[in-house]
Amino acid sequence: SAFINLGLHEALGRALADLKIHTPTPVQAQAIPVALQGRDLLVSSQTGSGKTAAFMLPALQKISEMPAPARTSGRPERTNGRRPRPEPARPTLVVLTPTRELAQQVTSATTSFTKYMRRIVCTSIVGGMPYPRQLDMLAKMPDILVATPGRLLDHMGSGRIDLSNLSMLVFDEADRMLDMGFSEDIDAIMAQTPETRQTLMFSATMQGRIAELASDLLKDPVRISI
Ligand code: AMP
Repeated sequence: SAFINLGLHEALGRALADLKIHTPTPVQAQAIPVALQGRDLLVSSQTGSGKTAAFMLPALQKISEMPAPARTSGRPERTNGRRPRPEPARPTLVVLTPTRELAQQVTSATTSFTKYMRRIVCTSIVGGMPYPRQLDMLAKMPDILVATPGRLLDHMGSGRIDLSNLSMLVFDEADRMLDMGFSEDIDAIMAQTPETRQTLMFSATMQGRIAELASDLLKDPVRISI
């Protein structure tokens, strides 16, 4: 399919065909090859442009190419007889979204894209969801977290999520995240991510504070505007 020509694996092409997705949208055609190269991206795009697949397909491909040990958690800590604390989840990909609804849409799209891939666990971590259920989901050691900033930061603070293994971070609807007052939470999250991460930022607008956020967080990004 045309998605294979952009550099994606056959397993992703087949899952897309099952979804009746055959031709890349403009944002997908431009973003996918660049994301696969490992470059940072700054994309202005609207809902309905196919932006979810534009970041998730290359991200999934990169996760599938990682050797398994890179995806598993580190060594259990020594406890000297004390009850061991649960291991933190160490996702390789985090997608930040402004709302619970968007996080759930991204998670469900991800599940449909991974239909023919070996097990990749994707969990949404959002405000308003009961903590016990989230802790159960984190205990499954998800590869991918789709999260709202406040709740992600809560779990980082209590040692349930560790971002030191992160290889890619995506901002979905970054302008809405700033509008909703998540700026400080975003700064606190980013401070705990590795310098080596790849960062993709999607936003409907590119003015003012978004341009600032992008210049703080993106390294020599490729800019795409549809
Ligand atoms: P999004 O902009 O990511 O919210 O996607 C909007 C809708 O377009 C979703 O229902 C996708 O399943 C669908 N979609 C994404 N990419 C394509 C494509 N290349 N061709 C047709 N539909 C698509």
